[in-house]
Amino acid sequence: MLKDLLAELTPRIAEFRRDIHAHPELAFDEHRTAAKVAAYLDGLGLVVHRGVARTGVVASLSRGSGHRAIGLRADMDALPLTEMNTFAHQSKHEGRMHACGHDGHTAMLLGAADALSRLGDFDGTVYFIFQPAEEHEGGGRVMVEEGLFDQFPMEMVFGMHNWPGMAAGSFGVTDGPVMAGTDRFEITLTGRGGHAAMPHQAVDVVLAGSALVQALQSLVSRNTDPLDSAVVSVTRFHAGHAYNVLPESAVLGGTVRTLNTPLQDKLEAGLRRVCRGIEATYGVSIDLRYERGYPPTINAAGPTRIAREVASQVVQRLGVGGHVLSDLPPSMGAEDFAYLAQARPGCYVWLGNGNESDPTTGNGAGNGGGCMLHNPRYDFNDEIIGTGITYWVSLAERALSRE
Ligand SMILES: [Zn+2]
Ligand SMILES: [Zn+2]
Repeated sequence: MLKDLLAELTPRIAEFRRDIHAHPELAFDEHRTAAKVAAYLDGLGLVVHRGVARTGVVASLSRGSGHRAIGLRADMDALPLTEMNTFAHQSKHEGRMHACGHDGHTAMLLGAADALSRLGDFDGTVYFIFQPAEEHEGGGRVMVEEGLFDQFPMEMVFGMHNWPGMAAGSFGVTDGPVMAGTDRFEITLTGRGGHAAMPHQAVDVVLAGSALVQALQSLVSRNTDPLDSAVVSVTRFHAGHAYNVLPESAVLGGTVRTLNTPLQDKLEAGLRRVCRGIEATYGVSIDLRYERGYPPTINAAGPTRIAREVASQVVQRLGVGGHVLSDLPPSMGAEDFAYLAQARPGCYVWLGNGNESDPTTGNGAGNGGGCMLHNPRYDFNDEIIGTGITYWVSLAERALSRE
């Protein structure tokens, strides 16, 4: 019985989680974490592949004679942040912290591998994907580029993230876009510097840059469907040093956020068009560097239906008072699970980390897990480990059911 197994497994997984919390590692540097993960999987007798996308680990578990396969994915990296919690498992490294709960994600997926290897009732193959570098540099993208889905053919892929502010043990399962795509841009305007008293002899980049900031706002207000969501924010504008000198150049920077790729493409093209217009109007020359970040994370209909069904069963079975929320708006944050979900139909769910925080300490541990992600006092809530493992196990059994 999974229930009996969980009673024994959950404390061990919590201990594993606290150990990697104490030893956080940044993007593509998750050597200790990956080694511990791989050793655990080896111990279960799974087929383990190390060094996938440098520090990633993929393990496979097969049952029966079926050729169907799915992927379950966790992320392993920490953030460049100094922890302010003072509990026993606080980070041992200044400037590094598991402030996004990837320690919990890694531990829960290991727990699921453990449970499935012992009593999993399914027909086919489950791939356990432990990816590096979710927070920066897109480890998920590197995995896809390195041929994750060629080496490990699977028909669906699933992800899960803890969600502070949502009741512990509840699930958020959203159809379609769930996280935003994030791009960044840097715009350098070059004119002709000169005396502020003789503007006709100069080409003024401050004026051109100001017009550019204003014009860029038309991309959302006039070029984007009012029922669609987008953000164009200019967050930097550097030009000039003196009150009587017109500067030679100005540099602007900012971010673009969207919930679908066609709109992302359209806004990039719009940015380029507006820059050309400003060049022509003001006689400056403009260099635009537009950098694509993570694409929007889009949940596909098939896997989302399965995930919702399974989450509902888990909540009922565990009877911990959780709910499945289907009407949550997407987050304008970003997630590199997006690359996996672009390559295969996928579903990314939120698991409530708790919605209370201790006003006296602000510590995440034992306080209900309400402290926000990326906060120096955040901690993954060990109380949800059993729910997370049960979800993964039930999902694998449902997606690869024997009938
Ligand atoms: Zn994060
Ligand atoms: Zn995260």
